[in-house]
Amino acid sequence: MSSQAGGPATELPFIPFAAPDIGEAEIDAVVEALRSGWLTTGPAAAAFEREFAAYLLGMGPGTGIGTAPVTVPGTGAAVHAVALNSATAGLHLALEASGIGPGDEVIVPTWTFTATAEVVRYLGADPIIVDVDPDTLNLDLDGARAAITARTRAIIPVHFGGLPLDRTALGVLADAHELAVIEDAAHCFPAMSAGVPVGLGDSAAVVFSFYATKTMTTGEGGMVVTADPALAQRVKTMRLHGISRDVFDRYSAPGASWAYEVVAPGYKYNLTDPAAAMGRVQLARAAQMRDRRAAIAQRYDAALADLPVRRPAGADSAGTTHAWHLYVLRLEVDAPMSRDAFIAAMAAEYGIGCSVHFIPLHRHPYWRDRYALARERFPQAEAAFAGAVSLPLSSALTDAQVDRVIAATRGLLAS
Ligand SMILES: *Cc1c(COP(=O)(O)O)cnc(C)c1O
Repeated sequence: MSSQAGGPATELPFIPFAAPDIGEAEIDAVVEALRSGWLTTGPAAAAFEREFAAYLLGMGPGTGIGTAPVTVPGTGAAVHAVALNSATAGLHLALEASGIGPGDEVIVPTWTFTATAEVVRYLGADPIIVDVDPDTLNLDLDGARAAITARTRAIIPVHFGGLPLDRTALGVLADAHELAVIEDAAHCFPAMSAGVPVGLGDSAAVVFSFYATKTMTTGEGGMVVTADPALAQRVKTMRLHGISRDVFDRYSAPGASWAYEVVAPGYKYNLTDPAAAMGRVQLARAAQMRDRRAAIAQRYDAALADLPVRRPAGADSAGTTHAWHLYVLRLEVDAPMSRDAFIAAMAAEYGIGCSVHFIPLHRHPYWRDRYALARERFPQAEAAFAGAVSLPLSSALTDAQVDRVIAATRGLLAS
């Protein structure tokens, strides 16, 4: 059916699904961090936190990220960015700092990575898994409202693929039911939502991921951003064994360097300086990398428009932008092959890696069995899952590689 367009895979280098975009500047920064002698959390991590907060506050017109003016509620309020060794750690500590515990319920979408829900179980609470909006694949707010009980304490929306969920509507729902909002923004840096950078706003905390495949990376890493100084302080304490001062403070602040106090049974979630050094360079490149991904998404949109596929929703409301972490096609039921056959053929015939985001939570044995989740309760996620495939999307893709992805997709799906 298809090998003419891309040629046999063996003749061309494989295009990985998610190539990290790491250049000499990142490599130099990591080497410099290693030479500095600070291998654990130190000055680079502190600088990364300051720069990340400043970046969010500076987003808006003229930065290439937003087009609408930045309207930060309570302008002037400090924004706290706390670096961690993963977004999973960030979600865990943000929930912990929000007081979530046994008996509580936390609403999460089924269309996400298991980390979004597992952190709720870490605390002995129960995730209430809800279906998604068929257009955006973000949490369905009507479904969320219907799932609220007297035990519901928090809600974790996921800005799927980098498209922000409607945070205004979310805020109304959360306020009405006194729910803490912890945004899972693992896909969503940098982006604007209704004129406000994702990271700022009314939520208790917003959590970003710097995992190797995400929109910027430290290899492994994450950031909790909050306007609440008490929440920030609790996350800082719990990321390092429940110790009241972090290592850097301990050795740089006046007073006895050996003295510290344990105030809680904390975790080991701190970000290392070599990782933070990489993050500082990636942060400086974040807008440019985002623009490259957006340009690739535009090319996919234009080149695949006539195929039997549903293309991903764009950012079409005022002041909202897309971070373009993922480009998820949905094969229509009349497509010439199944999603599974498409992914296999892309790899075998064209040497192109595709993936699936996500296998919905309710299909995984742990979540399905623990909460008796029947597929029928998730009709939108089920319909989406049947056809969903993520095409390669990375700022490291060359135009020639994008051409190959387009030619291969057309070779398999055009009639
Ligand atoms: C990657 C991801 C996470 C976890 O991020 P880590 O930094 O790997 O812990 C959480 N939620 C979603 C939606 C993700 O895609």
